[in-house]
Parts: sequence; structure tokens; C-alpha cells
Amino acid sequence: MHCPFCDAEDTKVIDSRLANQGFEVRRRRECLTCKERFTTFESAELVMPKLIKNDGRREPFNEDKLRAGIIRALEKRPVSSDDIESAMGRIKKCLRGTGDREVTAENLGQWVMDELRDLDHVAYVRFASVYRSFEDMNAFREEIERLEQAPTSEQHRSQMNLIDDDDRKP
Ligand SMILES: [Zn+2]
Repeated sequence: MHCPFCDAEDTKVIDSRLANQGFEVRRRRECLTCKERFTTFESAELVMPKLIKNDGRREPFNEDKLRAGIIRALEKRPVSSDDIESAMGRIKKCLRGTGDREVTAENLGQWVMDELRDLDHVAYVRFASVYRSFEDMNAFREEIERLEQAPTSEQHRSQMNLIDDDDRKP
């Protein structure tokens, strides 16, 4: 990067930190020729809209958090990592596609539910039953664990009964 003072080409980064809630990187640079210091801001070309939480707070879109929520809903379900990443890609495309600077968490939740409905019905129900009421990931996890311990289908129950019957045989 050219020095804005003397136009020299060689500058070195002396400090680098996140700015604008993680949407930008702020870099402090020093010109190796004239020793002047200046600041640059770098941001991704495709900026994700911020999320408007149910209580009105805004927070930056967090891809890892979204993925963790989806994987949690799909725990022990027969869905491949490739399918999860494809779903993530489509959800992110929806987010960018709005062209808005802010998107409601409810909108995001709806897109996630649309994807889960196609991927796995059990995961869809798990997610749908909790996403509106639990902001906190721990509460989300507890609800999922509770659902996992509950019998999920007739087939599941009859398998359990078969095992019990076998155990009872002499
Ligand atoms: Zn310079």
C-alpha cells in the first residue's frame, strides 16, 4: 500500500484490530521511507446484514453460531456435513439477497426452518419448537436434550420393547 504522505510503496502494519463490530479490520501502518503513520480500514465486499434481535438489540451475523445451532438441531440425525454446508450457503445467500443492512432474527429463523424442513423433519421440529423462545444457547441445548430423551416415534418405542423382551428371555 502506497504511503499517503510520500507515496513510497513499502509500509508495514504495526497494529491490526477488528472495528465496526467485527465488520472491518483497522490497520495502523508505518511508512518505511518517511516513518509517517496512517490508518486503513478493510471490509469484506459482501457485508452480511446485522441481526435485529427480538428485544430490538442489533448484533453482527455470526456464521459459527448459526452453524452450531443447525448442527445441534441435526444431532444424531442422518444428514451429511456437505448437506449442512449447502444449507448454510443458501441461508447466507438469502441474508445477502435482502440488500438490507439489517434483518430480523425472526426472518433468519424462518430461512433456517425452511432448510431444516427439507433436510430432516426431526431437526425441523426441534428447531421450530425452540427458536422463537430461546435467545440463550444453553437454554436451546437443554430443550434439545429434553426432546432427545423423549420417545420420538412408534418405531423407536417398539425397538425398545423388543430389547426389553430379549432381556427377559432366559
Ligand atoms: Zn511515507
